[in-house]
Amino acid sequence: MSEVHDSGDIGQSLAYICEKHDREPRRLLQILIDVQESCGFVSSEAITVIAQSLGLPRVQVEGAAGFYSFLPLAPAGRYRVLFSDDVTDRMLGSQELMRHFCNRLWLEPGKVSEDQAASADFTSCTGMCDQGPAGLVNGWPVTRLNRERIDLIADLILDRVPVSHWPPMLFQVDDNIRRTGMLLGEAFEPGSAIRALRARGPGGPEAMMAELKTSRLRGRGGAGYSTADKWAHCRESPGTARYIVCNADEGEPGTFKDRVLLNSYADLVFEGMTVGARLMGCAKGFLYLRGEYRYLREKLERILARRRGEGLLGTGIAGEAGFDFDIEIHLGAGAYICGEESALIESLEGRRGRPRNRPPFPAAHGYLDQPTVVNNVETLAFVSMIALDGGKHFAGTGTGESSGSKILSISGDCARPGIYEYPFGTPVQEILDDCGAEEAYAVQVGGPSGVLVSWKEFGRRISFEDLPTAGAFTIFGRGRDILQAVQNYVHFFAHESCGFCTPCRVGTQLQKKIVEKIAGGHGTASDLEELKHLGHLMRTMSHCGLGHTAPNAVLDMLEKFPGAYEQKLGSLSFEPAFDLDAALETARRITGRDDPWAHLPRQP
Ligand code: SF4
Repeated sequence: MSEVHDSGDIGQSLAYICEKHDREPRRLLQILIDVQESCGFVSSEAITVIAQSLGLPRVQVEGAAGFYSFLPLAPAGRYRVLFSDDVTDRMLGSQELMRHFCNRLWLEPGKVSEDQAASADFTSCTGMCDQGPAGLVNGWPVTRLNRERIDLIADLILDRVPVSHWPPMLFQVDDNIRRTGMLLGEAFEPGSAIRALRARGPGGPEAMMAELKTSRLRGRGGAGYSTADKWAHCRESPGTARYIVCNADEGEPGTFKDRVLLNSYADLVFEGMTVGARLMGCAKGFLYLRGEYRYLREKLERILARRRGEGLLGTGIAGEAGFDFDIEIHLGAGAYICGEESALIESLEGRRGRPRNRPPFPAAHGYLDQPTVVNNVETLAFVSMIALDGGKHFAGTGTGESSGSKILSISGDCARPGIYEYPFGTPVQEILDDCGAEEAYAVQVGGPSGVLVSWKEFGRRISFEDLPTAGAFTIFGRGRDILQAVQNYVHFFAHESCGFCTPCRVGTQLQKKIVEKIAGGHGTASDLEELKHLGHLMRTMSHCGLGHTAPNAVLDMLEKFPGAYEQKLGSLSFEPAFDLDAALETARRITGRDDPWAHLPRQP
């Protein structure tokens, strides 16, 4: 467990860190993370040294460092405590716990103590919703927080006990697998999927591509694009190298199933990547691991090392000459937008995670402008299963447009939160019954960017054709304030918008302000109309999926839960804080286009 050092030889540390990463500009984010872990923050001096060492403009290094929320640019205290701000953490009392913690240490939220010892703040969902309230201490997850644990943490900090000496029970993270299916219920022998691929003979890659097509496997990250089509696009695109990336930047609030897959099913995931590498001719792969799951890194590195020792990674994999492939772990640093595949690639290349214009798509022009596939953790685990059992077996489960099963991260008002695997097509009500949600009133399916489902819709089914989801299933019982939940979501999007395009940058802020105004009892009927107008603008004119989906929860609430806001509406006259039509007119004038954002691609 790393500690923040009072280092007198920062210059030496920086030189060592840059050397360790071969002074490679593409490794800038990894360098910045190492500096933060070593020094506690990324100082102005460090930015200058890194820029010189890597031969980059200083402004580029500063811009990258400033983009990621886990890279503070000023001292953040030797103990940096971040409380997860998922809606379920709030439902479990995280705000009261934060207040108590700050009182114990005389801290002001968001500020560092005078003696520079500690700081406390909120952060976006840390992916521990089944064992919250949760948080991070110097990047390490703490779970099941309550008054007793908060007092213990405060005492440990007051006594200046190094985090590495804290009681392990504070950092215990459980899998909580409650229901298994075709993926989680099967034992997997490392190497078996690669051997199954090789057993298909010289035409193995083509045969496996056919199996993928037969399986109708669709990406489990949310968009649901056909895996076979994406991989075929990459195979057919010219390039000097090809790459496969596992997207483990599981940032959608309420989602934590990839954390469990990586903790207990990592061989399935790495083997899926290796099969993909053989099919597409990739020599290199990356696991992009979200910063909140940094604690899994050493374990995953050990699994990769074991696989190299077993001939399942490296040169001549499984004895096949020319089958050379290896995987590198790349850490994220607290930026939800890096879950978008082109933003993730930007981050892999050492820049801010800003979504690229598409087309071209990453399958043709991705990492280092070469053909690259980015797949979700769960998708890659299913690839191993399909290599072993065949596409027909996989397609035999699920519905017409949604083959196979789906792993759900269930949290909120239920007796048994955790991980559940269901065949696609399972009704919401059946899931609620299984997890002990007797008083369910609403479910947010797919996280804040998904669908808010009311109790009248519990007959709807988890599937791409009805309720698509990347995995989050957040339950609200009777008596919960839906407006408060939506307020949490709009704060999240306003915080996570990368700021690149106006509809999202301005829209998420306006949405937040209007929802706050309504929650504060000062909203009017015009505000509701404004939210709808704004939502339409964001959905149609934003540059990437974040902006397209940021108004979903607000619009669902307006349509399905009038009781959540109607009583709060006041009679004040409406004075818009921002004239959207005037903004659009200005954009038209500047760009000379009738629809200034029409040239930007939409999400598939
Ligand atoms: Fe950035 Fe939002 Fe625009 Fe996406 S939609 S590019 S997150 S500002």
